[in-house]
Amino acid sequence: MKNLNDMPAEEFRKSGYQLVDWITNYLKDIEQYPPLANVNPGDILKRIPQTPPTRGEDIENILADVDKILIDGITHWNHPGFMAYFNSTASSPGILAEFLTAALGVNGMLWKTSPAFTEMEKSMMNWFRQMVGLPENYWGIIYDTASTSSMHAIASAREQLNFGFREKGMAGRNDVPRLRMYCSEQAHSSIEKGAVTLGIGLEGVRKIPVNDKFELISAKLEEAINEDIKNGWKPFCVVATVGTTSTTSVDPVEEIAAICEKYNLWLHIDSAYAGVTAMIPEMKWITKGWERADSIVINPHKWMFTPMDLSIYFTRNPEILKRAFSLVPEYLKTQVDDEVTNLMDYGIQLGRRFRSLKLWFIIRYFGVDGLSARIKFHIEIAKEFAEWIDKHKDFERLAPVPFSTVCFRYNPGNKSEEELNKLNEKLLEAINSSGKIFLSHTKLNGRFVIRLTIGSIRHERRHIEEAWEIIKTMARDLTE
Ligand code: PLP
Repeated sequence: MKNLNDMPAEEFRKSGYQLVDWITNYLKDIEQYPPLANVNPGDILKRIPQTPPTRGEDIENILADVDKILIDGITHWNHPGFMAYFNSTASSPGILAEFLTAALGVNGMLWKTSPAFTEMEKSMMNWFRQMVGLPENYWGIIYDTASTSSMHAIASAREQLNFGFREKGMAGRNDVPRLRMYCSEQAHSSIEKGAVTLGIGLEGVRKIPVNDKFELISAKLEEAINEDIKNGWKPFCVVATVGTTSTTSVDPVEEIAAICEKYNLWLHIDSAYAGVTAMIPEMKWITKGWERADSIVINPHKWMFTPMDLSIYFTRNPEILKRAFSLVPEYLKTQVDDEVTNLMDYGIQLGRRFRSLKLWFIIRYFGVDGLSARIKFHIEIAKEFAEWIDKHKDFERLAPVPFSTVCFRYNPGNKSEEELNKLNEKLLEAINSSGKIFLSHTKLNGRFVIRLTIGSIRHERRHIEEAWEIIKTMARDLTE
């Protein structure tokens, strides 16, 4: 074996250009693929050798296998026909930043392990805080996902109780009450997962009913808190969602904040999807009461054209986070620890990817105006799509549209709820097997609902018009 180092520089240059060519063509011609992968479980697995190669292979072969082995099994989140879930898309500046992140290969666990890392993250948190209009007393940090951000919020809320959980744990103790936290029935499952992770348990999460617009009913929240206190529970945290996953409903943050202040509870706002809209003047209403929250999560990887993954966690109280998580072994001590922020102190992970580079590239390339204009267009076109649904006699909308997600179903009349559920399930299947668009579903009050989300950087008006034609045609074909 001759070369015991990395790939030779000129080979990297050549294959790097090849890869950039591949990515350029992929994004340019993305509409030639079906948005949803059309393979069976195990199909891709069968194409990958079961044992690793003993001898190295040419990079050209590896790159060629992306097309031969992988591409059929890719669901193309970057495809403008992808209108399912909350469609996170990768913008080109974001892709370039990812490339650079991998090349720099730094691990930002300590300020010293890459000063530019920590200071870039701090600057980007400062930029983003201003973009969404949060006051200066909010401190921000980047985690991978909203699930992780919310877990850290719940951990902070738990730490604030001063029950010595960090030292003594929670199990087997009869000197502490059982903890209870609250969120609406429409809150994301990541909140319960956070509670599971932190030993709160699913029974420690009380789901509060919602009104007919799927917003948490604050009177019910207060009732639940009082009932729990009477029964010996210790309420400690409330999660309000601004942009719920199913319908994008907005919980009444100001009313919830007043309850949290009255009962001394941590208020966490989950605005993973919708939070970015706060940068648009017309959408400022969503931030009413945010300055009273202890923590807020917003995901640029959902609706700010940031390649997976990047979630922003803001808190007014980073010291609690540090108290919960800082644990410094000898080998990680540095001489500047008193002067700098070491990001490893503020969460479960030690090693950290250089994610803030993506924000630096994306915010600078598009500018706040460019990002706002794109998001605004998505909201406008979603409202237009909602109007098409409202005007069509055989379709009905099943939730308000505050952002860019529309919940609807096909209802040609004379059918029971059960028949309508079956019909809409079939319709969604037909739509998704068209190979043109990919939509997802939810259930609201027992009804099967089709969900269309607009939020891709590649969405143009024609894509939404085309989607509407496909939906109508498929629906007609099913009932004729
Ligand atoms: N919160 C809300 C409101 C969501 O809609 C989602 C996912 O769609 C999440 C949290 C979880 O996001 P992540 O995948 O970043 O953990």
